[in-house]
Amino acid sequence: MRAESVETVRRILCVFPRYTSAFGTFEYAYPLTDGVQAFMPPQGLLLIAAYLPENWPVRFIDENIHPATDEDFEWAEAVFVSGMHIQRRHMNDICRRAHAFDRPVAIGGPSVSACPDYYPSFDYLHVGELGDATDELIARLARDSSRPARQIVLKTADRLEMARFPIPAYELADLKRYFLGSIQYSSGCPYQCEFCDIPGLYGRNPRLKSPQQITAELDKMLECGIRGSVYFVDDNFIGNRKAALDLLPHLIEWQKKTGYVVRFSCEATLNIAKRPEILAGMREAFFSTIFCGIETPDPIALKAMHKDHNMMVPIMEAIRTINNYGMEVVSGIILGLDTDKPETGQHLLEFIEASQIPLLTINLLQALPKTPLWDRLARENRLIEDESRESNVDFRLPYEDVVRTWRDCMRSAFEPAKLLARYEHQIRHTYSNQIERPPSRQRASWQNVKLGLTMLRNIFWKVGVLGDYKIQFWKFALRRLGRGEIEYFISSMLVAHHLIVFARAASGGQQNASNYSIRLREASVPAE
Ligand code: SF4
Repeated sequence: MRAESVETVRRILCVFPRYTSAFGTFEYAYPLTDGVQAFMPPQGLLLIAAYLPENWPVRFIDENIHPATDEDFEWAEAVFVSGMHIQRRHMNDICRRAHAFDRPVAIGGPSVSACPDYYPSFDYLHVGELGDATDELIARLARDSSRPARQIVLKTADRLEMARFPIPAYELADLKRYFLGSIQYSSGCPYQCEFCDIPGLYGRNPRLKSPQQITAELDKMLECGIRGSVYFVDDNFIGNRKAALDLLPHLIEWQKKTGYVVRFSCEATLNIAKRPEILAGMREAFFSTIFCGIETPDPIALKAMHKDHNMMVPIMEAIRTINNYGMEVVSGIILGLDTDKPETGQHLLEFIEASQIPLLTINLLQALPKTPLWDRLARENRLIEDESRESNVDFRLPYEDVVRTWRDCMRSAFEPAKLLARYEHQIRHTYSNQIERPPSRQRASWQNVKLGLTMLRNIFWKVGVLGDYKIQFWKFALRRLGRGEIEYFISSMLVAHHLIVFARAASGGQQNASNYSIRLREASVPAE
């Protein structure tokens, strides 16, 4: 549904801020593609754009692709911004630029919802999800589009049911410029891991869209040019297991209808390994990757952070089970926990070797507001406000030791030979378990073939000829080509190249040790 129509027409400029360079944005893979410039289309802002009254013209700018221009700000009567903590500086910058044109600026999304005081310059703070605060914002702008004399904070008390969410305005975004498509089925998570702000922000009882909404969204994304992979950004895809089971037959049907032209990925807790019926459905719907917050292989640490559910199945066994259904596990890892010991880094590297997981997001612990961790560390007087640090946590181990361990782990885990060997393992033991997709004219389209050839050319030239890990690359490449594994070769190399380049910068001290760190570097993803 949309907001009710109002007589007054307002022109709204939605601006999504740049990301600071981060492990999880894959920007070093972009030059190997055919013009990808940004990570995922921002769900929240495109949702708000779709919700606005039908007669309100909307422009959407993702500053990861190109910056909003003076003409955009002049055109607009109000500016909407949304983003995460890591984009805070860029969000404040957009506000400053909009104010130069005397436009009122509203901010919504996860960062302002958790920390309204990060954003003193904005005219309107939209705290919480789509709901009565959104209607109030629209009503106020309809009445008066000048900047209010002082900041107005609007808090959602009555959330719009997800089953009534409109389809995000994908038609406003250039979906071909994104590395991944994104879609949301549920919001919230029943668990309460100590460091996580999801239950505090979105609740413990997952809210849901209907399966029909999801397939309609997928149809629209295809129409608007999405290709490759679509990521379910749900906090936990099995937060409501019955709902996941209800959705899967619809996804399978949709894949059959559209020729399996995209693959899916999602985030889920590791105890998904106890649910063969869900894993079997996901295999059939062509899920190829699950991001699991494994966090640490240390059971004492898991218990301390209230993540006991990771131990419902022994971790290695759970990973193998998921791999047996054709899905690669991507793992979140945290260093700097209170339970860490000097040998924790070595144990992590042994775990990586044993699990053969290629892609791990290794972060330093960061305390986020609205989490039990934040409350505990505040009580213990262990929160440090210092933007030059990699984390706001006063670790038990010496700070320099923890950061050095992180750098050493990044360097070792993503050495080209080791990483490509892990991909080799996945090709042999995981991807080989994926369903045999029937041939389809959509996948064999000239557009798709051209895309594949462009990526192959870029990979061979930029990594195989100009790159600096040629020996390892060619060993990997020749084996893939010899076995006709072209698709696996392209998908592995896109990610592997990013990891190798990023990890080198990280171990040399040029990247942040946490996706949440507010220590910002100059090397932001450029808006060109
Ligand atoms: S399982 Fe994941 S989403 Fe749920 S509380 Fe834990 S870390 Fe957060």
